[in-house]
Amino acid sequence: MTTPNAIEPWLRAILRCPKCLSEVRDETGPTGAPELVCTGADCGLAYRVDDGIPVMLIDEARPPST
Ligand SMILES: [Zn+2]
Repeated sequence: MTTPNAIEPWLRAILRCPKCLSEVRDETGPTGAPELVCTGADCGLAYRVDDGIPVMLIDEARPPST
C-alpha cells in the first residue's frame, strides 16, 4: 500500500511540465497540499496533486508567486 498522497514512482519518473517540458520538483503549496513545481526558469508553474494523482494541466496550474 502507498500513502494517500504518494505518487506512484513510475509515474513520478516520467512527469514533465506540459508547458515547457522541464522536470518538476516536489513542493508543498501554500495550503500545505503537495504540489509539483516546474523547474523551468521562465515557467515555474505549480501543479496540484489530487489523492496522489498529479494534475498536469496548464489551465489548472498555479502561476509562480513572484
Ligand atoms: Zn514548465
